[in-house]
Amino acid sequence: MPKAERIIKQNQETEDVAGLRRRLLGWYGQNKRDLPWRRSSDPYAIWVSEIMLQQTRVAVVVERYRAFLTRFPTLVSLALAPEEEVLALWSGLGYYRRARMLHKAAQFVADHLQGNLPRAAVELRALPGIGSYTAAAIASIAHGERAAVVDGNVERVLCRIAGWAAGSRVDGTALRRKVEELADHLVDPDQPGDFNQALMELGATLCLPRNPHCLVCPLAGDCRTRGEHMTPPRPRMRSREVGHALSVRTSLNPESAPGQRGREVLLEQRPASHTVMPGLWELPALLDPVVPQQDLRMTVRHAIMQVNYYVRIRTVFEDDVEVLTVAGGERRWVPLGEASGMALTGLTRKVLTRAHLLPSALLDAIAPVEADSVL
Ligand code: SF4
Repeated sequence: MPKAERIIKQNQETEDVAGLRRRLLGWYGQNKRDLPWRRSSDPYAIWVSEIMLQQTRVAVVVERYRAFLTRFPTLVSLALAPEEEVLALWSGLGYYRRARMLHKAAQFVADHLQGNLPRAAVELRALPGIGSYTAAAIASIAHGERAAVVDGNVERVLCRIAGWAAGSRVDGTALRRKVEELADHLVDPDQPGDFNQALMELGATLCLPRNPHCLVCPLAGDCRTRGEHMTPPRPRMRSREVGHALSVRTSLNPESAPGQRGREVLLEQRPASHTVMPGLWELPALLDPVVPQQDLRMTVRHAIMQVNYYVRIRTVFEDDVEVLTVAGGERRWVPLGEASGMALTGLTRKVLTRAHLLPSALLDAIAPVEADSVL
């Protein structure tokens, strides 16, 4: 290509990129959702929100984020807390490994970096549990570093804009690299944090996986596909039926005065060797998930990744526990007042709340995500 033509093409591309940034940031300024972490420039708070938002819906995160930051307002307060308490505050968000890694990274920063979270994305990436996505999000939003964020939403949006077929497993890594290069090229050097959040917001609210709202999209003029994209097939959900025992008794504690004795629920701790939710507390599993109608306390649907669990909850008297349940991890009769502060599985918290055995303030935040939530 002759030099003059090349310069004209380059100028055109520069203008196109500048226009795209302007349109996206303008739309974001007018339409962004008012979310609590968007009011903070504290890198620790942004870190917590980014970890919570991975795999969990915004509505659920809002409630848990506030409670988490109220209890652990600083990185050091998180680092000093026992893991059990961190997991209890994480209850309902699922993927507990995220909470464990966040806790470990906070301890590392407190022990080795005087409690100061590094500023640059490249240094953040060196911390345990912080990948390139989280590092770029913290560095760009809190410190204005020109680091592009690529999550699932951003990948979908950029693939559609560029006309690349997303969702192909064959050349997924090569595609991801192309998307990262494009994101690096597009990210606004003056407002990288807003640009990253705007692209994620567009993917979460307009450029939806199945029905993108192209007619009102600020980037429709920049987009090669405009809704004519290939949609990857929806993963097939499997179903499983399980049962759990809800066993409640009046406290036997001899120190409680008669008439003032509270109630206790039987909980079982998942063994530390389990790969899924090790150390969390749950209701004992029933040997037989088929429950006679007269003993059925409730049914609950709970989704974990690609599996829909249809859960039957059976009322079990103390004397019948051994006969009706699967012997598993350590069991304890736990006063109800204590149970809400424990690291319960999401399903157990949901059941106890619906049975009015735990305060229900969080139910609204947890319930709507049944189909997406994980234990
Ligand atoms: S025009 Fe449609 S497909 Fe393209 S980015 Fe906007 S919402 Fe997505």
